[in-house]
Amino acid sequence: MRQFIHDLASPRIIFGYGARSSLREEIERLGCRRALLISTLGQADAAANAVNDSRHLITASFNGAVMHTPTDVTQVALSVVVDAKADCLLCVGGGSTTGLAKAIALHTGLPIIALPTTYAGSEVTSIVGQTEDGAKTTMRDPVMLPKVVIYDAALTQTLPRATSITSALNAAAHAVEALYAADRTPLTDAMALGGLEAIGRSLPLLAAGDDGVAVRDDLLCGAWLCGSVLGATSMGLHHKLCHTLGGALNLPHAETHSLLLGQVAAFNQPGAPEAIARAKHALGIAEGIDSLFVWIKTFGVQMALADFGVEERALDHVADLAVQSPYANPVQITREGIRALLGRAYSGFAPTITAPLRMEALNGGN
Ligand code: NAD
Repeated sequence: MRQFIHDLASPRIIFGYGARSSLREEIERLGCRRALLISTLGQADAAANAVNDSRHLITASFNGAVMHTPTDVTQVALSVVVDAKADCLLCVGGGSTTGLAKAIALHTGLPIIALPTTYAGSEVTSIVGQTEDGAKTTMRDPVMLPKVVIYDAALTQTLPRATSITSALNAAAHAVEALYAADRTPLTDAMALGGLEAIGRSLPLLAAGDDGVAVRDDLLCGAWLCGSVLGATSMGLHHKLCHTLGGALNLPHAETHSLLLGQVAAFNQPGAPEAIARAKHALGIAEGIDSLFVWIKTFGVQMALADFGVEERALDHVADLAVQSPYANPVQITREGIRALLGRAYSGFAPTITAPLRMEALNGGN
């Protein structure tokens, strides 16, 4: 018998090529007149161009967003918000930019309008992962959920192909874990599968050089669906390991997701065989313990932690951190099991069956 609570809050979504032209109307709809424009340094000009039609509603800009949302950057941005008397936050960028907007909203309660330029999916969640003293701590608060998200594939066309690939795989990781989450629902399953189908259909085209509007549009729609299930369900071992590695070793976010996804899917397969099979089917991948790893590898992404300059001895510390607080996962998490997984990921070896314990209670009999 099914039993679930579906409680998915969503921003207002404006989707379409050229949709950024509706920004002015959306700011006014919120009753705001003094937006703070947030971006990374590298995207500062592109962000200003993207919102040019609404420049009379933008009172200041802050282009210091960086990955993993360090709290010291948030403090600097907060002083800009106060000086500018901003009444809303306009973030144009990937997850790093959205993350900073969320951290500011947490302190100020200001509404966020997000224009995503990667496939990270942060714009449709009320989650932020903030980093302080080498530890990344994730929290949820509804105040951080953007009020409006404007998805305009034109803004993703400048994203370099290699970054686009890892970013789309980051999105896929949300959907894979949502399919075995204990709190998934029929609607989150449908969204996860729809997101994976879009990525499975369009990522190989993008990787082969097709950077056309249709491919970008499909990937962005997939990113919306995958991000939505990230916000609606509880993530397991894969996200825990990515956050631990990101916070402790400052590894690039989407690249870490890409490298680990095939490893963790294989690790979790004995506890969630149906979910992993559905994910692979939606992506258009064959069955097999290492087939997701092999598929990801075909896109030319880095598959070894060693390639990121990680020292092997750091993995012991990461394994210690990863088992510190309990979280739901279809397979029991032991320090030994995590250390073995990290060892394979360090060398970039394909995953093998590890025959771990199955945790029926945690994955709802999936
Ligand atoms: P990012 O935002 O750091 O962007 C990566 C790089 O690409 C940056 O240098 C950025 O300036 C550049 N860039 C972004 N869009 C571009 C474009 N269209 N054209 C050219 N360059 C562009 O990377 P990301 O992977 O999107 O985000 C990673 C961060 O987001 C991490 O801190 C992660 O924890 C967070 N995140 C949070 C959530 C959540 O729900 N809280 C979800 C996913 C990711």
